[in-house]
Amino acid sequence: MEVIDKVKTRVYRFGNKKADGNSKMKNLLGGKGANLAEMSSIGIPVPPGFTITTEVCTEYNALGQEEVVALIKDEVEQAIDNIETLMGSTFGDIDNPLLVSVRSGARVSMPGMMDTVLNLGLNDEVVLGLAKKTNNEQFAWDSYRRFIQMYGGVVLGMKPASKEDIDPFEEIMEHLKHKRGITLDTEFTVQDLKDLVYDFKEAVKKRTGHDFPTDPWDQLWGAIIAVFNSWNGDRAVYYRTMHGYPADWGTAVNVQAMVYGNMGDNSGTGVCFTRDAGTGENVFNGEYLINAQGEDVVAGVRTPQQITKLGSQRWAELAKIEEEERAKDYPSLEELMPSIFEELNGYQDILEKHYRDMQDMEFTIQDGKLWILQTRNGKRTGAAMVKIAMDLLKEGMINEKEALLLIEPNKLDELLHPIFDPAALKRAHVMAQGLPASPGAATGKIVFFADEASKFKNSILVRIETSPEDLEGMNIAKGILTARGGMTSHAAVVARGMGKCCVSGAGALKINYKTRTLTVNGHEYHEGDWISLNGSTGNIFEGKVATMEPELSGEFAELMELASVYGKMNVRTNADTPKDAKVARSFGAQGIGLTRTEHMFFEVDRIKAMREMILADTVKGRKQALEELLPMQRSDFEGIFEAMQGLPVTIRLLDPPLHEFVPHQLTTQKELAEEMHISLQAVKNKVAELEEFNPMLGHRGCRLGNTYPEITEMQTRAIIEAALNLKEKGINCRPEIMIPLVGTVREFEAQEQIIRTTANTVFEEREDTVDYLVGTMIEVPRAALMADAIAERAEFFSFGTNDLTQMTFGYSRDDAGKFLPIYIDKGILKVDPFEVLDQEGVGQLVKLGTERGRSTKPDLKVGICGEHGGEPSSVEFCYNIGMDYVSCSPYRVPIARLVAAQAAIKAAQ
Ligand code: ADP
Ligand code: MG
Ligand code: MG
Repeated sequence: MEVIDKVKTRVYRFGNKKADGNSKMKNLLGGKGANLAEMSSIGIPVPPGFTITTEVCTEYNALGQEEVVALIKDEVEQAIDNIETLMGSTFGDIDNPLLVSVRSGARVSMPGMMDTVLNLGLNDEVVLGLAKKTNNEQFAWDSYRRFIQMYGGVVLGMKPASKEDIDPFEEIMEHLKHKRGITLDTEFTVQDLKDLVYDFKEAVKKRTGHDFPTDPWDQLWGAIIAVFNSWNGDRAVYYRTMHGYPADWGTAVNVQAMVYGNMGDNSGTGVCFTRDAGTGENVFNGEYLINAQGEDVVAGVRTPQQITKLGSQRWAELAKIEEEERAKDYPSLEELMPSIFEELNGYQDILEKHYRDMQDMEFTIQDGKLWILQTRNGKRTGAAMVKIAMDLLKEGMINEKEALLLIEPNKLDELLHPIFDPAALKRAHVMAQGLPASPGAATGKIVFFADEASKFKNSILVRIETSPEDLEGMNIAKGILTARGGMTSHAAVVARGMGKCCVSGAGALKINYKTRTLTVNGHEYHEGDWISLNGSTGNIFEGKVATMEPELSGEFAELMELASVYGKMNVRTNADTPKDAKVARSFGAQGIGLTRTEHMFFEVDRIKAMREMILADTVKGRKQALEELLPMQRSDFEGIFEAMQGLPVTIRLLDPPLHEFVPHQLTTQKELAEEMHISLQAVKNKVAELEEFNPMLGHRGCRLGNTYPEITEMQTRAIIEAALNLKEKGINCRPEIMIPLVGTVREFEAQEQIIRTTANTVFEEREDTVDYLVGTMIEVPRAALMADAIAERAEFFSFGTNDLTQMTFGYSRDDAGKFLPIYIDKGILKVDPFEVLDQEGVGQLVKLGTERGRSTKPDLKVGICGEHGGEPSSVEFCYNIGMDYVSCSPYRVPIARLVAAQAAIKAAQ
């Protein structure tokens, strides 16, 4: 660590309409601290306080407690002094005490992940002074018991003993409530509260072996250090890792004068939003509790009431409560405290206009006076995000570029899949949890075999894992659930491609194919039982959960229009069927970047011919089988060309190892032998012969086409004939034939020659021509290095970054599940390189390949296909290195379009 700078400022003060910091200083002051400073400066009533910077947290981690306390002691003491002056009370004073809260706050909001202590500065003497000063014993002792509770939990480690146990303080309170026959915290008498304080302190002593600290300064330092420690607590570490936030960000600590919502019926606390975080509707809304402190609202100690009258009425409608009863028993803040409401309403308006985004605020009312304790840009659903951005634009609060930048690309996903009805979700029983592999909601009956997916109208395919043979069944099923496999497992990748809901890697599932049962925690489910999957959370529910179609609201379309105005890079789609192609076009795809021809061969009527082709021992036999496949391929291509109406379509020649196509089960092998009039042994031999040690590095890609040229011939013929057929119908299609897995120039040339010769033959036969391109995937590292030579012949490049990642890292994608999660857990890798393009390493090959390719062919068209083409940071990278297009699955087209626009806006800034 560098030399410690002793003179730099480590403590930033705020209060009384002034502040040392501002909202731009989130990295240093944390989001909470920066916004408290900003609010103070613009005249919002914020209790005075100070922020210890995030840098001190990092210093603490390096230096330890003693040295760090020495480093900030003077500044902290002066800052407390400042609060004392502003509040007219003194920290630790018995007659006129100042109490403070000690609050965590990282640069991004990590809700509930770190700790906060309220009412700090109390002890057995100060509590008496507080009671006297406020003339409110109830309040003083309530604050004291809350303080011991929070400080005990956060600083002294008074946590539940095991996950089955409840919080030790809650247990004591429950016990007393039971004894007294009461249910609410507010029903405790002064004597009850005194008893609780006594019992709490005893419990602390018993558990920790120490007395509860009585000196306010000891308490303060204890809490500050505890907040620093919470940055490295389990919860925070988990959240940080999940979002990829680095450990060296640290958390700031905010120390702030307490204001009391628990002083009686003229006090209270609440949370509010300037707009609806669920729908985006421009209505002020929120919840509050009378006679309570901050935590109570979130923790659900009592059921909170609605802030606005409208909100209260809507709530009562759902709860089936008559208006008269509502107004009497559940009044809104608007009705109960109209002038406080007006003031709050004013602040929410000011803050939203100031930050030019939807705000999520905390407030407290102390004896009729309103204080604001926090504001931040509110978290929201995908639907709300889009509506709010477009509304703010229309209201003139932000400009078009700002509206586009307000969108979190991945959240658009929520708008593109069916969703569960939120009300139904609340009642549903979660039976297990897996990985959120492909978003969406699915409800259906369990089937265990892909070829039985159509057994029920709505089925969920439940597998230990899926394989390419399951494709059709996966397509038919409403959702896919696997016990094994991660976010890039076969099931996950295929499901995402299809836009189909998938939960993968649910380890708790015991699947027995023989008995057709699924066992979870001792409970058995059978074929035909209803289950439901939430692909966005990984939750697996028992039974049926009602779903609804997502509303592609007008705003979503408007947003996409805007994206087209600013986006300079094209967005294509990966589509293997006319249906996918149509979906993608409706989302604005400007072409197809990848059609995988092999997927077409898995369908029932084709797999047979395909297998015959593979099993044939002679060129003649192969050609015969290919003859059968030709018309099917041709009509597939016609369908896709038609769906794309003249937009460019890139078709990849056959890529996977042939072994994937042959049957592996005895029964299917027998069937095939019978159909082909050959012996079972012959089939078995062929299957064994095709087996490879490293199929991904084996006989696949252009290696197939170069060893079995007749396959390339057939596929080319199908493509060109399809294009000519459509030309007759008046649709000018633009096929781009793509040769996979090229590593040497010769490999490319050999395939290109077959393609051109075949095309010319067809042109002669038909006495007509179409324009077409021949290009290649760059997915073998050698191809990137040789790109200049390859580009002399190739008319376009498409980076196949799945294979390129696999080969550059030397990680087999099919085996990576064994070590990648551990690598990510241990921080050896930050993210899964199959999900997020490794810009540092693999990205070099992409950049270099593009540059070298364009050095010999300046106008070389370059794109990317593969999973990364729809991942925001990867798409931005592609734009920045000058790609012409990205290609992604249909359901990610809007995301890629948005990122393309954002990237262009950012690059121009
Ligand atoms: P979180 O980040 O988990 O929301 P906070 O630091 O915001 O934690 O605090 C938790 C609760 O305590 C919030 O409701 C907040 O409004 C309340 N609170 C924090 N500081 C004070 C204070 N000085 N006076 C009154 N309430 C406070
Ligand atoms: Mg908060
Ligand atoms: Mg590949």
